Amino acid sequence: MKGKKFYIETLGCQMNKLDSELIAGMLANMGYSATDYADDADLAIINTCSVRQHAELKALSKLGHLHHLRRKHGKPSTIAIIGCFAQRSPEYIRKHASYVDIICGPADLDRLPQLIEDARNEKKQIAVSDFRAIRSGRQKYPERLESLDTNRIVNKNQRQAFVRVQRGCDKFCSYCVVPYVRGPEQSRPPEKIIDEIRKLDNVGCREITLLGQTVNSYHCVENGKTVTLADLLYRVHNNCSVPRIRFVTSYPADFSTEILEAMAKLERICPYLHIPAQHGSNRILKLMNRKYSVEQYIELIDTARKIVPNISIAGDFIVGFPDETDDDHQCSLELIKRIRYKNCFIFKYSVRPGTLAEKKFSDNIPDEIKTKRFIELQELQDKIALEDNRNLIGQTLDVLVEGISKKSKTNPSPDGKVQLSARTTDDKIAVFDGTEDLIGQIVPVRIFDVSSLTLFADTV
Ligand code: SF4
Repeated sequence: MKGKKFYIETLGCQMNKLDSELIAGMLANMGYSATDYADDADLAIINTCSVRQHAELKALSKLGHLHHLRRKHGKPSTIAIIGCFAQRSPEYIRKHASYVDIICGPADLDRLPQLIEDARNEKKQIAVSDFRAIRSGRQKYPERLESLDTNRIVNKNQRQAFVRVQRGCDKFCSYCVVPYVRGPEQSRPPEKIIDEIRKLDNVGCREITLLGQTVNSYHCVENGKTVTLADLLYRVHNNCSVPRIRFVTSYPADFSTEILEAMAKLERICPYLHIPAQHGSNRILKLMNRKYSVEQYIELIDTARKIVPNISIAGDFIVGFPDETDDDHQCSLELIKRIRYKNCFIFKYSVRPGTLAEKKFSDNIPDEIKTKRFIELQELQDKIALEDNRNLIGQTLDVLVEGISKKSKTNPSPDGKVQLSARTTDDKIAVFDGTEDLIGQIVPVRIFDVSSLTLFADTV
């Protein structure tokens, strides 16, 4: 297989980004090298998302483009679709994109080497797990899946990394497709997580983000004792020297104060929580099957701010959920005002086939009202973030330099300097002019101006 090239494109969340990175390592082990050009690739992979219909349509359009390239240039010779859309709709993909060679769900990615080999010989491979059988106990979660993470190939220049601590989700929020496409919640054994982090630490990784759909419900039984997320944070902190440790995404119910105490005590755990409220109305939260009230959510954030005073909070909101009234919408505005988020990811409700909301409710909020509510929430959030960011003007903050900013990529400066994009410990984005050798380093910068999403800085 020497000399072969692969092309991979990733849509969706951080879990998909991690899967793509692990697959790239796996393919490198098989003798493949990466290419940025699909028409130069022997194998092209689209890693898909199913969270909104728009993401699935995008995946289909990317597949169509790969097919077009293959007809024109003979490459990519093997086309694979993986991830959540592949798991949700294998038959649909087979029917509407019959040229696809491999369809593989997230719980079967460890099987890719074999699928690629088989596809080269026989064509058309489908590998998706039966999560219903796993949930009902008729089948066990395949242990082989662990190999995808434990065999991780660490790049010696890697400065930021995601580490999976949990798979799947058991919450079944009524709008969400994740429990169906990523399967039941399963926590990874702590020693395997630590082994992976040590590998990253050994190459000088500066930031790791522990990933789980509901990361605060992490629990794993070890020698008869349950290891919680708080326990895991102590273990990770004590077993590596990585300067920044984060965890996402938190679910607002069952969030223990032990986690917050660990954040306060352990200096390398970043003071940042991504903890989606999704709505500010208890009536809608109930329809969404979220297992907390607005009051409980506010109490949790107040406690977090008491225990970790410099903590920044990011949230998610959905507008236009079925039956959402103007009063419900006002409640979301009130919650944003009350919490004062660092940033919010705001989405218009999109029906997902197979979810409880699709079965029980009608998508009865017209799109123009969804858009109007979306804009109102976004404008309020931007105003709050701008006000809070203004307090940072004149301050010096340590930032981890992540790379060249979008502006510099599209419009490079003639003097050889570039605009660098960096991140504060509490997850704010800062940009400043500097040299490329700073990428991957933690450096102090002074803030001289701000927008709602960006801090503009100078090197100190
Ligand atoms: S907690 Fe709810 S929204 Fe988050 S992944 Fe699980 S089902 Fe989806």
